[in-house]
Amino acid sequence: QRAAYMRDRSKPSVTLDGVDIDLFINAGLLIDVPHLEESGAVGIGLYRTEVPFMVRSGFPNVDEQQKLYQNILDQAGDKQVVFRTLDIGGDKIPSYVRESEEENPALGWRALRIGLDRPYMLRQQLRALIGAASGRPLHVMFPMVAEVSEFDAARAVMDLELKRAAEKGVDLPSQISVGTMLEVPALLFQLPTLLSRVDFVSVGSNDLQQFLFASDRGNPKLDGRYDPLAPGMLRMLKTVVDACAEADVPLALCGEMAGSPLEALALIGLGFRRLSMNASSVGPVRAMVRSVQCENLTGFIESIMNSHHHSLRSYLASYAKDHKV
Ligand code: PEP
Ligand code: MG
Repeated sequence: QRAAYMRDRSKPSVTLDGVDIDLFINAGLLIDVPHLEESGAVGIGLYRTEVPFMVRSGFPNVDEQQKLYQNILDQAGDKQVVFRTLDIGGDKIPSYVRESEEENPALGWRALRIGLDRPYMLRQQLRALIGAASGRPLHVMFPMVAEVSEFDAARAVMDLELKRAAEKGVDLPSQISVGTMLEVPALLFQLPTLLSRVDFVSVGSNDLQQFLFASDRGNPKLDGRYDPLAPGMLRMLKTVVDACAEADVPLALCGEMAGSPLEALALIGLGFRRLSMNASSVGPVRAMVRSVQCENLTGFIESIMNSHHHSLRSYLASYAKDHKV
């Protein structure tokens, strides 16, 4: 099976009726980057910058960060890399940042909240990213955005750093694209405002699902209790797809859902055209994409979305079986 995926890695990720589905990988360490070539993915849809921070004993300075990001961009070559700013907090707080224990770390002082409260950290990171891009395109996204004003504040920090870089004579990125993760439900109710301000959106379905169902993503007692293929989850995702299409804002999904063929099938039927996943999932998802009729699938998803069932998983599995997906 693995050999077949390797063989097919240069085949286009396109449905039987000609719809391109762009497959990206999620990465967090330098050793993940070669997977880009091995999997045949078109880019890194989520580079989790907190991973290198977690494995160190102290906060890396701007130069160290810049070298790291430069290295990733060098290795990725012409392929797009979307850097997510630090998503520490929750269960991933480096010892040198921790201030106190929190009652509800997933709902706590994390990600962009830390970045906005400790702007020097965010500034240093954006400075390093700008320096690393130097003449190349730069794609940055912010995690755990709950309000449009938080996105605006983060983008203002980016603009400040760009201005500083220009004044210092730094070779600026050839193109700058600033987006947001969509993983906090409050943002769903600010979509029109949000979409007029962002360059792209990437759905973090892991957190979005956890907050949507108020169900801890790491609690084994809740494992499987709520399904990402539940009608509520899919209908929510559909509103995001429709709003982004209407506003003409590029949309991706980079949570675990994207990497499981049956979930990815549902996402394509909902209208997602960019999926970012662990490198090992690219082969299986590409094989699924190449065997599916997108238009027929879209109609099928539409027809089952209003179900009252706990999950649409069995319907999707039957569809996949009947249509030899
Ligand atoms: C997510 O929440 O879906 C996501 C991609 O981010 P992380 O898993 O790093 O929280
Ligand atoms: Mg997340």
